[in-house]
Amino acid sequence: MYDVIIVGGGPAGLNAALYAARSGLSTLLFEKMFSGGQMATTTTLENYIGFPDGVDAITLAMQMEQQAKGAGAEIRYDEVLSLDLKSTVKTVTTKKETLEAKTVILCTGASPRNLGVTGEDAFRARGVSYCATCDGALYKEKTVAVVGGGDTALEDALFLSKYCKKVYVIHRRDTFRGVMNLVKKVEALENVETLMSHVVKEISGDTRVSEITVENLANSKLQKIAVDGVFVAVGPVPNTDLLAEQLPLDPQGYVVTDEAMKTECAGVFAAGDLRQKPLRQVITAASDGAVAAFSALRYLTEA
Ligand SMILES: Cc1cc2nc3c(=O)[nH]c(=O)nc-3n(C[C@H](O)[C@H](O)[C@H](O)COP(=O)(O)OP(=O)(O)OC[C@H]3O[C@@H](n4cnc5c(N)ncnc54)[C@H](O)[C@@H]3O)c2cc1C
Repeated sequence: MYDVIIVGGGPAGLNAALYAARSGLSTLLFEKMFSGGQMATTTTLENYIGFPDGVDAITLAMQMEQQAKGAGAEIRYDEVLSLDLKSTVKTVTTKKETLEAKTVILCTGASPRNLGVTGEDAFRARGVSYCATCDGALYKEKTVAVVGGGDTALEDALFLSKYCKKVYVIHRRDTFRGVMNLVKKVEALENVETLMSHVVKEISGDTRVSEITVENLANSKLQKIAVDGVFVAVGPVPNTDLLAEQLPLDPQGYVVTDEAMKTECAGVFAAGDLRQKPLRQVITAASDGAVAAFSALRYLTEA
């Protein structure tokens, strides 16, 4: 039986693994895709303290993994399918095995939210993408639309403007939600056109995306725009489906914890973007992970 099993290998999970292993706890982390989570889907982090010139996100993810492993944490690439968190001994079932732990730290993060329009599912990976840094290079000299108005949408537009002939940014509000620095950079680009107070109604094409239909919310007029790709950046949804029957979630599906990352279930902690909190960033995820590991140690030593 492990002292702690961590579910998810983003910055929260990797830092929880580092702190737990360094505290002498037997620590196993499950990651279903790649280390770094959402962080590893971007290019450069410009706001992670200690790197005045920015840091390559994938390099940082690899170094976080290496540091956690170096401290003694075990990392397995496998998806956790179900959890039994209510008993004193916790059970974690993955695609390959079922294991027991005295404590569990949940770090499953968040995923991009769907637009929910006709054609989105049909053209997924055939012109509809949720990751500009992953797929942007496929759209060299093409025309694309970015849907959203927060930091991620603006960063996507900046990134895509380097490859694409033309980038439309389509946002349902009349002002962007992203930081002013990014808004100014996007607005200064000649190959980016912003369509404020517009929503996408339909994504269409033959074998791949070739057109979107947008509605101008000011006058309800519909307009068709020829595009080769649609990048959806309308915010995250927490990866908490696994937990629905195990823990109380807030109305948006986020796990509720206290300051020590404790959930309502004894011995179960949650850290990072899956948790109800005001700021979802790499630094706050890593910080949550450290606190969760500390709380797991305290739970085990006080038990
Ligand atoms: C495009 C983009 C750009 C960003 N840019 C910045 C930035 O510049 N600066 C900044 O500070 N933040 C940035 N962020 C936010 C930052 O990446 C997140 O806040 C941070 O990664 C959250 O970390 P996390 O560990 O909580 O979750 P995540 O990073 O979401 O990691 C969760 C991990 O859990 C895994 N997982 C989920 N379910 C399971 C399961 N059942 N079994 C096993 N593994 C599972 C996932 O595969 C994933 O690897 C950006 C986010 C995005 C999407």
